[in-house]
Amino acid sequence: MEKITRIAIDGPVGAGKSTIAEAAAKRLGFIHVDTGSLYRAIGVHCKENGCDVYDDSAVFEHIEKAGVDISLRFTEGEQRVFVNGADFTDKIRTPEASMLASRVSANPRVREFLLELQRSFALNNSVIMDGRDIGTVVLPEAEIKIFLTATPEERAKRRYDELTEKGAKTDYEEVLNDLNKRDYDDSHRASAPLKRADDAVLVDTTGNAFEQSVEEIVGLINEKFNR
Ligand code: C5P
Repeated sequence: MEKITRIAIDGPVGAGKSTIAEAAAKRLGFIHVDTGSLYRAIGVHCKENGCDVYDDSAVFEHIEKAGVDISLRFTEGEQRVFVNGADFTDKIRTPEASMLASRVSANPRVREFLLELQRSFALNNSVIMDGRDIGTVVLPEAEIKIFLTATPEERAKRRYDELTEKGAKTDYEEVLNDLNKRDYDDSHRASAPLKRADDAVLVDTTGNAFEQSVEEIVGLINEKFNR
């Protein structure tokens, strides 16, 4: 059987983890797992069903006892996220969904609920998995760990451009404030906070064009495996 390779990419909001990981995974023939989509799907599903995301017990009851079923499907290198069979992929990409995700992700029972699911994707496939705690908690045995970052201003600019391109009405200061708040909350929560694993390579993409960042990541992986 072919050897399974696990690559963990963590980092703050808007560092480009998912887009870079997706492009690198396509080049390498790996699957790409965007774990943020799982927290987003739970946050949005809670909201749609009148469950208060600030009430940790209510959220847990909602997802575990009520039997919320989350799954990912991979088609042609693209990941789609489903909740109880309904496709949530497109509706989880709003600023509101980002905040809901950040809130439910601080709930230790939500993190526990998603842990085995995330690990299961790396059992039979070579993966690039991105998130906040992949190198530290989800895949501590990953062969390569990368901590991807860029200055807050550059990350906010990229996020702002992405949102306005999609026709969303927003302003740069608001995007920067949301990003700083989410990074602060993600780094200071008690359960699996965002932090660089001791053995993670730091990649700063400030000033890089997208393709440059993809090249850097693919280069790191190829170098490690002498390919
Ligand atoms: O990566 P993305 O911005 O989609 O993640 C949304 C939120 O989900 C993050 O702000 C973070 O709070 C949470 N998250 C997490 N652990 C992960 C992935 C995402 O706590 N592995």
